[in-house]
Amino acid sequence: METKQQQLSDRINNLETSATLAMAAKARELKEAGKDIIGLSLGEPDFNTPDFIKEAAIKAINDNYNSYTPVDGYAELKDAVITKFKRDNKLTYDRSQIVVSTGAKQSLYNVAMVCLNAGDEVILPCPYWVSYSDIVKLADGVPVEVPTTIDSDFKMTADQLEAAITPKTKMLWYSSPCNPSGSIYSKEELRALADVLQKHPQIVVVSDEIYEHINYVGDHFSMAQFDDMYERTVTVNGVSKAFAMTGWRIGYIGGPKYIARACNKLQGQVTSGANCIAQRAVITALEAPISEIQFMVDQFKERRKLILGLLADIPGFECNEPEGAFYVFPNIEHYIGKTLKGQTIKDASDFSMFLLEHANVATVTGDAFGGPNCIRLSYAASQEDIKNAMSRIKEAVS
Ligand code: PMP
Ligand code: GLU
Repeated sequence: METKQQQLSDRINNLETSATLAMAAKARELKEAGKDIIGLSLGEPDFNTPDFIKEAAIKAINDNYNSYTPVDGYAELKDAVITKFKRDNKLTYDRSQIVVSTGAKQSLYNVAMVCLNAGDEVILPCPYWVSYSDIVKLADGVPVEVPTTIDSDFKMTADQLEAAITPKTKMLWYSSPCNPSGSIYSKEELRALADVLQKHPQIVVVSDEIYEHINYVGDHFSMAQFDDMYERTVTVNGVSKAFAMTGWRIGYIGGPKYIARACNKLQGQVTSGANCIAQRAVITALEAPISEIQFMVDQFKERRKLILGLLADIPGFECNEPEGAFYVFPNIEHYIGKTLKGQTIKDASDFSMFLLEHANVATVTGDAFGGPNCIRLSYAASQEDIKNAMSRIKEAVS
């Protein structure tokens, strides 16, 4: 390590770079250098933020919303979040249970920082969203990975949860719909996990529901809807995905008062609260009927069908059928240990790099998600890009 780097904290030297953002940056760099790269690495809707939301932001600027906001969010925004939780999730919260942050990513970071002491264990069913394990580590927690396979649709069973719990287990984190597998936990599956958790009252659950509306099968159930889980579940959500607002950076939690109060305290020392204009725009977004964003979900559904059909035609890509989100997470074990175009593929990272170099398609290695034999492809891309990317991949691996 360079001397200068040694002067940095162990905390940052031990932190992994976000694999999703790193691959997106690499793809951007190659594109700028003139390479014809198709980016299927970043989980970002390729739609523009709907006009009615943009107009609300412009109005907020003209109405002189320019001062610090309450640290945990405008009261009107919290009310919109409360109404959303009631409407979509049948969850009842009051203002003291809501904290608005700079993206769901910061919401997750806040929760980790306020709940974990050094050595506390956090159960992460694999595959999990890329930043979970590093956020946990930043808070001095210990990620405990629970592997799952395509046979259980990448979902953790109650027995697996029970086996992973130790006296040090403090939290369970998962996303449903899941990034990267697209799997959705049914009410029954969540109940089975909740039954295990009843025996371990010290465990707090983080239920990341940011893909809630990008659901192709219909039902979304929140862990906090069970009366016996309500007091120990933090429900995380945000507007990045459903409203095509990734850059606006607004996420939020609903949860137990003591956790919300602690997140508010932390945020007061770290950011002073989320951006005022974005917060005003999100009030309008959340108050709109869900039908306003259905056109995006319909298009994602078409693209899912397209990409699954095309992948089925490429040897060695074994997929589950994602029920939500906009990713496929094929198992590509078939290629590990093989030599393609003179290059030996040691692992999924090599395979993902191979696709970047030889197919000009950016994907993300499954390693980053705790799914070492898989890669993730985002289908939040045009049908044309999806078709071209799949034909390039097919050609490169043939
Ligand atoms: N959770 C999951 C599962 C995600 O995929 C993402 C990526 N956007 C986030 C949280 C963070 O979202 P944001 O910070 O953009 O609100
Ligand atoms: N959540 C998206 C993804 O998984 C965006 C990138 C990020 O926030 O890490 O690709």
